[in-house]
Amino acid sequence: MSDISFTSPAPGYWADENVSADDWNSAKWQLKNRVSSLADIEKHLTLCEEERAGILLTGTKLATSVTPHYFNLIHPTDPDCPMRRQVIPRIEETYTDPSEMADPCGEDSHMPVPGLVHRYPDRVLFLVTDRCASYCRYCTRSRVVSGVSDQKLETQWDRAIEYLKRTPQVRDVLLSGGDPLLFSDSKLEKLLTRLHAIPHIQFIRIGSRIPIFLPQRITPELCAMLKQFHPLFISIHTNHPRELTTEVHDALGRLADAGIVMGNQSVLLDKVNDSVEIQKDLVQKLLMCRVRPYYLYQGDLIQGTAHLRTGIAKGIEIIEGLRGHTSGYAIPQFVVDGPGGGGKIPINPQYIVESNEERTVLRNYEGKEFIYPEAKLAAVPE
Ligand SMILES: *Cc1c(COP(=O)(O)O)cnc(C)c1O
Repeated sequence: MSDISFTSPAPGYWADENVSADDWNSAKWQLKNRVSSLADIEKHLTLCEEERAGILLTGTKLATSVTPHYFNLIHPTDPDCPMRRQVIPRIEETYTDPSEMADPCGEDSHMPVPGLVHRYPDRVLFLVTDRCASYCRYCTRSRVVSGVSDQKLETQWDRAIEYLKRTPQVRDVLLSGGDPLLFSDSKLEKLLTRLHAIPHIQFIRIGSRIPIFLPQRITPELCAMLKQFHPLFISIHTNHPRELTTEVHDALGRLADAGIVMGNQSVLLDKVNDSVEIQKDLVQKLLMCRVRPYYLYQGDLIQGTAHLRTGIAKGIEIIEGLRGHTSGYAIPQFVVDGPGGGGKIPINPQYIVESNEERTVLRNYEGKEFIYPEAKLAAVPE
């Protein structure tokens, strides 16, 4: 059942196109040859009606674009293919549930400077670009990402850096977007240099799905540049074990060899990764890539994503199916980003059966119960 082998999808749909190995392995070629239009997609895939309509109707909300590397993971005919559901739009994206919002995590109202989200006391989220290598249909920031919707990301670089300089309680800066690793090495180096020079910033992290969508971007030169800015963390974003290809495994290996600490953030998605079996394969494969599963997110209430969300109970079931059954290192924290701007709220299975002043009854992963008594302290003589 479980499949944790690393395989390469190349050349896949490009087998007849005589692409040289140099081209295929170049991030530039991958970006230039992204599959974006209905005609390009239909050259390779048999689409269902819901997908065809989705591709035609969603173009003014969130762009469609898939790198050849990732496109090769998509099943040619099955609309329920987990990779296909993540990057090929469906007509359901045009339906909005009354509970859904453009900015469900309340980011826009927590920006002291455009592009800088300061919600927690000691850390900030710095949105440095609105572009990605490929676009996830459930994007938490689809209101500004990909540059096709009315709202634009208008990051004010100098003002953001000035804010960080005069805000000493910020000790942790998280670069995101969009995908910061789309920047050229020199542009990213300039930004990291400015942040690294601020004395109270203790560490920098980058949120990126580039290692998955575009592993060709993780060059030895990029890794050598990033290495100068330790402690540097990268949060990657993987949802399905098949996304961890040979190329991705090697790219993550280069980052790990450069001393970068990596975590993975997954989003719980209907018919993508909504089972214990898939999640277990994913997290175990991540450890083999030297990436520690960090968060499993409940889908945000983004407009047009109801068809990709599951119930919260599914996430609890998954964590319960992992805890005790696989390495503790493999288990992410399940979180819900509180709608309206509550921040990340951890959700855990209930292991306390009952608790009173004398004892707590606990259950373990096998359902066996154990009693933990409170200490009975002898009265201290006067
Ligand atoms: C997720 C997030 C962070 C980082 O949170 P951690 O729990 O420290 O990973 C910081 N700021 C904002 C606005 C966030 O959404």
